Amino acid sequence: MLTPVRVADFVLDAIAARVGAVEPEQGGALLGLPGSDYVTEFIHDADAATTGTRYQNTDWLIAAIGAREAATAARFKGIVHSHPRGMPVPSSQDQAEYAESLRLNPLLARYLAPIVTHDVDTPLAGHEIRLGPARISFYGAERAADGFVLAPVRPVVVPVARMLRRAGIRPEGDPAAIDVEGATLLATQAQLPGFGAVTLLLGADFPATAPIVLPEHGDGPLALGWDLGVPAVERLARAVRTLRRGRARDREERDASHRDGAGADEAGTEEQGAVAAARRDPVRLLFARTEGILSPTLADRSVLIAGAGSVGSYMAEVLARSGVGAFTIVDPDEVEAVNVGRSAYRVADVGLGKAFAAAEIVLAINPSARVGVHAARHEDVDLAALVAEADVVVVATDDPQAQARVGHFAYWAGRPAVFPGLYQGAQGGEVIITAEGSACFACATGGVRADLEETGSNEVAARTDYGTGRLIAEPGLLTDVHHVAAIAAKAALGLLHSPDDDVTAARFAHGILKAGTTYAVFGHEPDYWIFAELMRAAPAQYAYQSLWLTVAGRSDCPVCGEPAGRTDPSAYKEPDVDFIRTLRDGE
Ligand SMILES: [Zn+2]
Ligand SMILES: [Zn+2]
Repeated sequence: MLTPVRVADFVLDAIAARVGAVEPEQGGALLGLPGSDYVTEFIHDADAATTGTRYQNTDWLIAAIGAREAATAARFKGIVHSHPRGMPVPSSQDQAEYAESLRLNPLLARYLAPIVTHDVDTPLAGHEIRLGPARISFYGAERAADGFVLAPVRPVVVPVARMLRRAGIRPEGDPAAIDVEGATLLATQAQLPGFGAVTLLLGADFPATAPIVLPEHGDGPLALGWDLGVPAVERLARAVRTLRRGRARDREERDASHRDGAGADEAGTEEQGAVAAARRDPVRLLFARTEGILSPTLADRSVLIAGAGSVGSYMAEVLARSGVGAFTIVDPDEVEAVNVGRSAYRVADVGLGKAFAAAEIVLAINPSARVGVHAARHEDVDLAALVAEADVVVVATDDPQAQARVGHFAYWAGRPAVFPGLYQGAQGGEVIITAEGSACFACATGGVRADLEETGSNEVAARTDYGTGRLIAEPGLLTDVHHVAAIAAKAALGLLHSPDDDVTAARFAHGILKAGTTYAVFGHEPDYWIFAELMRAAPAQYAYQSLWLTVAGRSDCPVCGEPAGRTDPSAYKEPDVDFIRTLRDGE
């Protein structure tokens, strides 16, 4: 493959919206930084004469490219257009046009010619990336002795828009190329939280180097601490957070010296003092109203949250507000607009990794919290290590394999775990608690299903799916999701204490373990069927009922059975499917 091409993510977003979202064919021009393989601009050729099999650029597009080159430092890089399904390669007609374009643009070293198709069912090759409902296949034409060579080009996405959003920076439009003392940079006006209007200058090697941030009012650039050890998409957010903390500290010191000088009887001083104290020591104040219920030792405790969806994000928030000091959050997904109505996330979080967005919520509540973020699936993190660092494990994922696997690691390491799950439409739900001596997750869920089948209600297995939590993604009222998550959070808070801590939360959780009632079922609807049909005789049932079941582990269970028969979850290997096929084909 030829030299890779760097493409800013906002350019890909624009191509996805204008070209990828409609049936072929559509097209437009690509521009970028001069003398560099970096695409930073897309001009859509909206009025082109297109058919299902043909895109012919307009004279308007040629004029628009010329105007843009005259007004900014951006230079023409090539043309992107779409093809019908099954044709993710340039046609022979396209190739004739590449030869002509190279002839007309003698300064162009390489003519970029990506093709967009709606082929999303076949695997992506190294020169292709997914583009919403479409894919984009990158090609480049370079001059050769006998005309030109056309070759696939590997795209490298530069996450400019995602990094800005992640850092809470709102740019006024996409960054545009400008000349600054002989160097070409991307520039944009933006609102930087805590600093107001700024100009951001991004070099050609961003995000390897920090952007230059020029405040509209101030004495020159803000110095960002740029940590290359941090994943690229998180780097700007981290730098801005550090900058804001430094500024808050400065202001606090100024306030303190002002107070000392002016005397304590000044109006509003007490309130200002409380604000300054909250900034200095948020954790102490977090406990001001929970004395006897929670212990300040929570600041030294650590929780692992696997899954940061509606339940996980809410639990992260509640545990942070309750004073838990350290979090590790694992989730591979991004926040989508549909998540906002039923999670702790905000519109500004859309497009961010859920793990990052949840970490942001925790830090906004308690800036001194320690948060580890893994935007990854449970298979792709070192679960043994993460579980070992945690005092309690919260399994808030809707993936049944992940529930069982994370549960196994927790049990093996002797860490208590809490498994919240929702039933159909969040009309009911469950919380399972496991700890050394209790039934494991697999035994608890298997046992309850069998017991309820025995009671004669054949509908049980069909209408719930005990323990899999797979119905969690269904539409359901957030208050009902919170009902289950709140009880899981209360259990987790209790389990973060030792059994002999003299606080209410510890008595709650360790009482459950002592009684063995580790499987709680909840109904949110009036006379929810589990209660109406199975507990008919119980008085005063309406809604928000609960049932705390006793469950037993099997003595031969590899997770919670006799210690000698337990298996180490780290020793598990995914089956080698190709090897199994080879064996079967050989039979
Ligand atoms: Zn074509
Ligand atoms: Zn078991």
